[in-house]
Amino acid sequence: MGERLNGRCLCGESRFQARVLKNEADACHCGMCRRWAGGAYVGVEVEDLDFAPGAPLIAYRSSEWAERISCARCGGGLAWRMVDGSMANVPLAVFDPPLDLPLAVEIFIDEKPSGYAFAGSTHKMTGAEVAAAFAGREG
Ligand SMILES: [Zn+2]
Ligand SMILES: [Zn+2]
Repeated sequence: MGERLNGRCLCGESRFQARVLKNEADACHCGMCRRWAGGAYVGVEVEDLDFAPGAPLIAYRSSEWAERISCARCGGGLAWRMVDGSMANVPLAVFDPPLDLPLAVEIFIDEKPSGYAFAGSTHKMTGAEVAAAFAGREG
């Protein structure tokens, strides 16, 4: 880790750099993530998330403690982060080139639609287990 990676939205007007904190991805099946991403959310925890000056961003406050950053021009989702700056997660697909990390954890497994499932063995947690482990960081 350590290296700062580049990323961008679909139209390319919103660019960022971030340092990936893990060599593993996590997926969230919660209704909010799926509605925001239009499907299952697969991302990685990052630090030092910096957007390029002038990037046309919108921040949607999806809960008391978290916001979701998207490009205002193409609508592409770029990041979920705690408003206090303590945690940020970026979809694998928006890194440039896209990151291809093994999927280690699936959260809100109890909200996953039955029509699909990820391959391989992952650590699966229900929404209640997540709430207990992270004390309300989801949203
Ligand atoms: Zn864009
Ligand atoms: Zn979620």
